[in-house]
Amino acid sequence: MSQTVLVTGGAGYIGSHACKALRNAGFIPVTYDNLCTGWQDAVRFGPFEQGDLMDRARLDEVLSRHKPVAVMHFAALSQVGEAMREPGKYWRGNVSASLNLIEAALAAGIRNFVFSSTCATYGDHDGVVLDEGTAQTPLNAYGASKRAIEDMLRDFGASDGLRSVIFRYFNVAGADPEGEVGEFHQPETHLIPLILDAIDGKRDALTIHGTDYPTADGTCIRDYVHVMDLVDAHVLGLKHLLGGQVPDGTQEVFCLGTGNGFSVREVIDHSRHVTNRPVPMIEGPRRGGDAVKLVSGSEKAISVLGWTPARSTLPQMIADAWRWHQNGGYER
Ligand code: UDP
Repeated sequence: MSQTVLVTGGAGYIGSHACKALRNAGFIPVTYDNLCTGWQDAVRFGPFEQGDLMDRARLDEVLSRHKPVAVMHFAALSQVGEAMREPGKYWRGNVSASLNLIEAALAAGIRNFVFSSTCATYGDHDGVVLDEGTAQTPLNAYGASKRAIEDMLRDFGASDGLRSVIFRYFNVAGADPEGEVGEFHQPETHLIPLILDAIDGKRDALTIHGTDYPTADGTCIRDYVHVMDLVDAHVLGLKHLLGGQVPDGTQEVFCLGTGNGFSVREVIDHSRHVTNRPVPMIEGPRRGGDAVKLVSGSEKAISVLGWTPARSTLPQMIADAWRWHQNGGYER
């Protein structure tokens, strides 16, 4: 019989792709999402339970009815700019909500937890390639809230035997090549979809946030990972947990990047080549809270989980995002 997994944020960008990967791997993904930023149309691969993570009674009811073997926790606020302006929203919406979820999962007897963390937990490290052992010194409430949830998982491991797999990801891009789901944020704040909006006239121009960083071309450097590769890693992480490879009460952290960094200007150049269209752009000031360079090693995910980031080249990610951009989208 198929095993069920509770996917919080399953109506969002990464969560919806994860549901597809879980369904394809033989699991039943139950999406738990309040639709504050997600889309009901993106829930295509398993049951949908609309609910808020702060609603403990609703969580308890959903967990007791579906009896998941694990929780995959994507639901989160994730915009650096917003986190700088409204930190309270991040501490409440990410940290308090996750605490509620972890306590509900433990009360329902669930000990397996896959958590979507971020490279934003690291902060600036002077250009070094980051790995699982790098110190976490976040620059904004988004990164700080995710680091706090990692700590929380550790503490509930010690107290209750919770086993967790934590993925710290770098910049996620691209879309399902079959076009069933894709990236669709309102408002959009991420670089690649904004470039594509500028290319096809949905906005006047892309604003480059800062051109005076200490990099070769003055713009920030990020490590871009294809969303399909990213969710493959989540399925591998889940199997790692269910296979008993994570000892009771412990957590295993994996960085998911490619080891290759691209500047904002390089992403713009690739987008111009892939779409064969000009990118209208203007140069603006720095965006508060941005690290200069975030690039990861992913040797651990490759060697321990057998992860292969096969689609994570910039041209492939932009091509898949462009196809989705032209044909996809959701309606409320
Ligand atoms: N960026 C930019 N213009 C935009 C959006 C993003 O120059 O309109 C830059 C941003 O400053 C960062 C990089 O693109 O250096 C990636 O930003 P994004 O918001 O996509 O992801 P983040 O790294 O914040 O998770």
